[in-house]
Amino acid sequence: MKQARRRLVVPAYAKVNLGLEVLGLREDGYHELRTLFQAVALHDDVIIEPRASGVTIECAHPAVPCDERNLAVRAAQALLRYAGVKRGLALTLVKRIPVAGGLGGGSSDAAAVLMALDALFKLNLGTTGLYPIARRLGADVPFFLFGGTALGLGRGDEIYPLRRQIESQVVIVDAGRAVSTPAVFRRIDGGLTPRENSSTIYRFVSSDLDGSAAYQILTNELEKAAFEEAPELAGVVRRARTLMRGAGAFFASLSGSGSSVFGLFDDAHSARRAVERLRSTGMTAHRCRTVSLDRYQRAWERALRVAGARPTWSQ
Ligand code: ATP
Repeated sequence: MKQARRRLVVPAYAKVNLGLEVLGLREDGYHELRTLFQAVALHDDVIIEPRASGVTIECAHPAVPCDERNLAVRAAQALLRYAGVKRGLALTLVKRIPVAGGLGGGSSDAAAVLMALDALFKLNLGTTGLYPIARRLGADVPFFLFGGTALGLGRGDEIYPLRRQIESQVVIVDAGRAVSTPAVFRRIDGGLTPRENSSTIYRFVSSDLDGSAAYQILTNELEKAAFEEAPELAGVVRRARTLMRGAGAFFASLSGSGSSVFGLFDDAHSARRAVERLRSTGMTAHRCRTVSLDRYQRAWERALRVAGARPTWSQ
């Protein structure tokens, strides 16, 4: 077998939430959620180079901490400790996912580090072995061990990949404002009416409706609190959503606790038209596509093959 090369470059994809329901506050202080995650092709690159000891990180983005507060560093330290690997790492992040934008950037970087180190050091933990480490790092981290279209239950960390994977063009609007997820959750606590279960996301998942009709029942229950937290966001989100719908989006919503807004489109032409219109009003918009479970795994296989390593799910 070829020796693994010393430098690994892996993708860390963003996610959007197609609907997010908050059922109540749990005894452990977290919220009980129902959400549908969707991986999208917008991604950071995580560059990993083995070192004798210590974990360092470099990132040119001014809002990303370059120390132990960085979730990628915490992921590396947690995995090295867990597996008893007496090595160090130099991490570099090429940040493209808007920071604190509800797109799960930090969580995805962390999951990417876990999966890459599993392959690099031949630990053979795979998704099952990495899962408990991922959920300790953060509620959004486990989703990124799977990618594609997946139901997120519990804190959003119980992941059920769907058989029906969504394939569409995606337009993401970077509202240019960081929104703190914990602050948004704190705001909803006062007005929360606890309920046992949800209906809309389950109805969506089990619906045999095709096309846009199925999406109209999905809502993001963090939106109101996100607008209270960042009042100037409301106007931007509403304008972006209206503009995307006008350009042909079959679904448009705030992602997570914001501030990013996204639209789903059947074809590249409408998505391109939406991006042009958004940019002409001064908004920052990216066009990409959804990343299905299969695509996600293939992208990982490619990234690791280049370095002479293999993801553990294919072994
Ligand atoms: P979440 O909803 O999970 O909070 P998000 O997409 O809204 O995710 P992130 O981009 O993950 O937000 O950033 C949230 C905060 O985490 C940032 O304000 C930043 O200071 C910190 N952070 C730690 N590690 C990273 C990382 N690798 N990339 C981006 N931000 C990070």
